[in-house]
Amino acid sequence: MKKVLLVNPWIYDFSAYDFGIKPVGLLRIGQSLRSKGARVDLVDCLQGCARRKDEYGFSKIRKEKAEKPDMLKNIERPYFRYGISISEFMEKISAFSEIDEIYVASGMTYWYPGAHLAIKLLKERFKNTPVILGGIYATICHKHARLTSNADIVWKGNFLDKECFYQSGFYPAYDLLADKEILPIQLTTGCPFRCTYCASRMFGAKFEMKDPVSLFEEVMHYTRVFGTKSFVFYDDALLYRNAEGIKRFLRLVIASGVQFTFHTPNGLHARFIDEELADLFRKTNFRELRISLETSDEGVQQFTGGKVSNNDLKLALRNLKEAGFTKKDLGVYILMGASYIDMEKTMEDIIFINALGAKAIIASYSPIPGTLDYKILVENNIIKDNIDPLWHNKSIFSELLMPAYVRKAREIRRFTSNLNKT
Ligand code: SF4
Repeated sequence: MKKVLLVNPWIYDFSAYDFGIKPVGLLRIGQSLRSKGARVDLVDCLQGCARRKDEYGFSKIRKEKAEKPDMLKNIERPYFRYGISISEFMEKISAFSEIDEIYVASGMTYWYPGAHLAIKLLKERFKNTPVILGGIYATICHKHARLTSNADIVWKGNFLDKECFYQSGFYPAYDLLADKEILPIQLTTGCPFRCTYCASRMFGAKFEMKDPVSLFEEVMHYTRVFGTKSFVFYDDALLYRNAEGIKRFLRLVIASGVQFTFHTPNGLHARFIDEELADLFRKTNFRELRISLETSDEGVQQFTGGKVSNNDLKLALRNLKEAGFTKKDLGVYILMGASYIDMEKTMEDIIFINALGAKAIIASYSPIPGTLDYKILVENNIIKDNIDPLWHNKSIFSELLMPAYVRKAREIRRFTSNLNKT
């Protein structure tokens, strides 16, 4: 029997928070290999690292101070490795005597030191076992990963055929997770929009949707088998074609009589939140809704892809409030630090959101290779092509380019936090 080890590596960053992060892609691969007869185990560096869970079960993550790579030395804030200790990792991998294949996931491009460290330690332990690296970093920074990760194979894009996602009864191997209190689910793949700053299309350009009945069966399966009642949608365009998709799913949830909780950390499209959907959200216990705006500058909205207008947002918030949502559960994403959004305009955006009775949630800008934004930044010599992925870190990109950014960003965050409390 083939023995396979799945490894979800550490996060290296200045800050990190667990909004239901789970290595879903890795666990899908695990399930696929199991169906072909393999024995599959998981070492998850983030497992058991939740610290102080909030009312929704999200949490801070255990961390240790890490040495900063040279290019981050000038950043004054501390840098961390989030997850289990290295000795715990060594202990876990030592428990396996023979492994035939190792799959290592990678998250954000600038978290790559975690994947590199895991590969190094795995190769020391399992000298002749092939290591396959996949995920976001391996796809977006494919060349960097091939040249520097030491993995035997670096996989670009989705490892499995899309058919797996749509196959009825094919669920990620969530049984391998220790904490199943909150699980990710997905109704759709891809996104019909093409925002200039987003890398969504690099994992498949086409928008597709699974049958809402099969998603409902999946949710009921997790409730029955693991007792899970709280779910996080991982979709990029959950509300697109909502009459045939999410609305049908939510009606099934209501009919089941089971009390679930749903979260949407990926921003929702305001233009699809009509009265009926707002009402369904309320009846099915959606919490802390996140809606995308990025900026109230209508010129920039158009230039970056036209996914939302101020009017779309106003109507969506009106519908959500009429359905019974209050400011506590309504967050609107505002982008800070993009070269085409003036910081003073960001202040105005925050006031605009608060005047509409919602909280502004600041999302720091980072340039992602393969996006139109990135291309423009390279063409204008603002950044070099093939910069180290550490540069993509949302916490530092603008800071490294604009010395005044740190002070202004701090001021904006303080201002936002005060206004959101009102
Ligand atoms: S709508 Fe969202 S997921 Fe789709 S391209 Fe724009 S930012 Fe990306």
